[in-house]
Amino acid sequence: MGKVTGFLEYDRQELKYQPAADRIRHYNEFTLPLGQPDVERQAARCMECGVPYCHRGCPVNNQIPDWNDLVYDGDYETASKNLHSTNNFPDFTGRICPAPCEAACTLNLFDSPVTIKTIEATIVENAWEKGWLAPELPKTKTGKKVAIVGAGPAGLAAAQQLARVGHEVHVFEKNARAGGLLRYGIPDFKLDKNVVERRVQQLVAEGVVFHFGKKVGVDVDAAALVADHDAVLLSGGAEKPRDLPAPGRELSGIHFAMEFLPQQNRRVSDEPLGDVEPILAAGKHVVVIGGGDTGSDCIGTSVRQGALSVTQLEIMPRPPEKEDKLATWPNWPLKLRTSSSHEEGSERIFGVTATKFEGVDGRVKEVTIQEVDARFQPVPGTEKVIKADLVLLAMGFVSPVHEGMLQSLGVALNGRGNVEANEEAYKTSIPKVYAAGDMRRGQSLVVWAIREGRQAARAIDLDLMGKTELPR
Ligand SMILES: Cc1cc2nc3c(=O)[nH]c(=O)nc-3n(C[C@H](O)[C@H](O)[C@H](O)COP(=O)(O)OP(=O)(O)OC[C@H]3O[C@@H](n4cnc5c(N)ncnc54)[C@H](O)[C@@H]3O)c2cc1C
Ligand code: SF4
Repeated sequence: MGKVTGFLEYDRQELKYQPAADRIRHYNEFTLPLGQPDVERQAARCMECGVPYCHRGCPVNNQIPDWNDLVYDGDYETASKNLHSTNNFPDFTGRICPAPCEAACTLNLFDSPVTIKTIEATIVENAWEKGWLAPELPKTKTGKKVAIVGAGPAGLAAAQQLARVGHEVHVFEKNARAGGLLRYGIPDFKLDKNVVERRVQQLVAEGVVFHFGKKVGVDVDAAALVADHDAVLLSGGAEKPRDLPAPGRELSGIHFAMEFLPQQNRRVSDEPLGDVEPILAAGKHVVVIGGGDTGSDCIGTSVRQGALSVTQLEIMPRPPEKEDKLATWPNWPLKLRTSSSHEEGSERIFGVTATKFEGVDGRVKEVTIQEVDARFQPVPGTEKVIKADLVLLAMGFVSPVHEGMLQSLGVALNGRGNVEANEEAYKTSIPKVYAAGDMRRGQSLVVWAIREGRQAARAIDLDLMGKTELPR
């Protein structure tokens, strides 16, 4: 343990942001990093618990107390080795993970948790700066060929693990660039795309071959892909959005979040939008339906584009301002979460749903909202009309898209419409075919996608070689 009395001496120090009035003028990241001495003091708060609940809270089982201790001692190189032994991309999670480890931290029971995510981000940025993240080339090649469908965090993590043990890895991605939702969903102001690109370049240097603009099931025959490779990993995400079939849904100006957000990410990266109608919030009253991360990202993007107003509708009741400290891990401590995007200028309405869209000349102009009861049913007599020139549906994702690749392979699905495969073997119902990430577990988090990519890589290596040194 670094400093025995650290948690008694130092308060938790949060990352600060550029003022909202400044940051809404650009799409760059806006967190102001803590200096190294401050980060080391924050690491000193770790009690190195006998039973470190942070471990269990972290889906990739990061060895958090170990690297907290190393950071307190200023040994960032060993801390980086330790961190990368469990997580291929701590630069992604250090920026955008909701940090279930912090919710699980013992200090969170009676005080504020260790700033685990900030410490993680500092370790990895330091490692890039010092040149400690050189490509890791395999000692020998196995002669086995693996195809990965989808270059999101699950596919990228699997590709890196498999290439590092000597397999020939080909990643097929329908988009022009790698990253999945990291690149096309999450806005640049939360995750700079150079952070994704430097990892893609690391993978290329490690021998991974990317095939961009190739949609398996359309541009590439799925059965031929299976026949041509020793193993195929399906990591195509859960891309089917949840719709809101209310009267007026057919009006123009009502879009899924994932029609809106990728356009702005492409604009920032100078990637052509293609043959689609541009969707912009400038000069519009925007209504975002859905209160999660995707909804927040729609708010931040709309504000930056110059929306006149942004209103977010959330079907759940308003959570308490402070969490119930006794209801910590494994229960999620429910409390009102105000994202940086909320602070940039939006109104939030809780406990409501949209029940009707109305428009003029085929374009949406108004949304009728109604309060909901405990069963989320609209309460008669609570109707209220709000202005809406642009409506963004951010109510989550139902399942992977079945049409195309999954149907042509005939892969078995579970009751929720996700690809059936267990968390040990990651095998689907089709021989040689595996599944990981949102395509297997349903809409989730980046950290879970990384975990599944790593574990599926291990399962594939074990099946191909009869043994494996990859960690679970
Ligand atoms: C707007 C938004 C914001 C989010 N914010 C956060 C956040 O802040 N923190 C967090 O932890 N999680 C967040 N998430 C969730 C997180 O991004 C996902 O859980 C994660 O990206 C899933 O990773 P994946 O690799 O399984 O799938 P994806 O990231 O969806 O990647 C799948 C890839 O497969 C490709 N693909 C699909 N089908 C085919 C095919 N037939 N042929 C070729 N390629 C194909 C897709 O183009 C895509 O690139 C957010 C999600 C959204 C939508
Ligand atoms: S639970 Fe918190 S205090 Fe305990 S070891 Fe983990 S980070 Fe440190």
